[in-house]
Amino acid sequence: MTTKAFAAQSATTPLGPIDIERRAAGPHDVQIDILFCGVCHSDLHTARSEWDGTQFPCVPGHEIVGRVSAVGDHVAAFAVGEIVGVGCMVDSCQHCPSCGEGLEQYCTGGGFVGTYNGPTPDAPGHTLGGYSQRIVVSDKFVLKIGHDEKDLAAVAPLLCAGITTYSPLKHWGAGPGKKVGIVGIGGLGHMGVKIAHALGAHVVAFTTSESKKQAALELGADEVVNSRNEDEMAAHAGSFDFILNTVAASHNLDPFTALLKRDGTLTLVGVPEHPHPSPAVFPLVFGRKAIAGSLIGGIAETQEMLDFCAEKGIVADIEMIRMDEIDTAYDRMLKGDVKYRFVIDTATLG
Ligand code: NAP
Ligand code: ZN
Repeated sequence: MTTKAFAAQSATTPLGPIDIERRAAGPHDVQIDILFCGVCHSDLHTARSEWDGTQFPCVPGHEIVGRVSAVGDHVAAFAVGEIVGVGCMVDSCQHCPSCGEGLEQYCTGGGFVGTYNGPTPDAPGHTLGGYSQRIVVSDKFVLKIGHDEKDLAAVAPLLCAGITTYSPLKHWGAGPGKKVGIVGIGGLGHMGVKIAHALGAHVVAFTTSESKKQAALELGADEVVNSRNEDEMAAHAGSFDFILNTVAASHNLDPFTALLKRDGTLTLVGVPEHPHPSPAVFPLVFGRKAIAGSLIGGIAETQEMLDFCAEKGIVADIEMIRMDEIDTAYDRMLKGDVKYRFVIDTATLG
């Protein structure tokens, strides 16, 4: 089925309109008419080929909310008319130990299939994402949305920014009695602040933007630190159980490992184009501290996060854009000039 979309044709050209083909819904497929799609910094990294391996044309977008418009014969869990979500994955092997544990993002049977830029038998041979009017996805990778319909645009960013912060916060035990830092108050970071607060942790937001200090308190941070101010940083030395770093650019990690308690962990979810400088080893060794990484979250945990956010009334803070404003949005995102997530109204593709 011919579907209107927006694509990058190369790493250096602006995104523009394109007609793509979506497969007819197979027996286990859900066809979704997309209402809203969030704009993740990973879309920018991929469209501008900052990571290896972008295939063009590239239709980004993996924070998708829409309405089911058709289901295959064997789909029992979803019905036409239902509001659903799709995040960063549309398939995985379903057989390996990770898939067996509901951790499809760590699939070792060939790796998960990304919502865009992943391998697929469908034309043109790689997946095309949510900057489009329609998508067809295996029912195992479709999520239920319990939020009120009036909030759907602000729910879309939960599908990546929400789960990418929820999963490590849960894994490393963020909760009452724990001091948790969130570094970088962008799309991921602002969700991290809201979720860590809702989990009951004492939350400290680290920002390089003086202008976000008051706003971070309103998001749920108990304290805010300008990470470029050495005195403000020193006041928190050796005090954190866990720090989640969402920064999309290469930077020195040592000022953050210095803030960890003994046995504390600094977990990286930001994936900058260029590597961070190698961290100093002494502060790690002398405090049995860890630097770790974390990738999105599995489908079951994504559903758990969506249900948790619906129950707690958590959505993203968004700025809605037209599809043809995407390149300006990317440029503003690079300057940290968004509070806190752009969301595309896909009706503007029409
Ligand atoms: P974003 O909205 O652009 O937010 C990144 C934030 O990092 C900025 O708002 C800014 O916050 C801070 N920052 C940017 N440049 C900085 C610099 N040079 N020094 C210090 N701080 C800087 O991006 P996002 O969508 O949240 O994504 C963040 C990163 O996570 C990207 O690399 C993305 O690809 C990655 N990601 C990873 C996963 C995963 O599964 N691991 C999933 C999704 C995204 P302040 O203004 O507060 O300093
Ligand atoms: Zn993302």
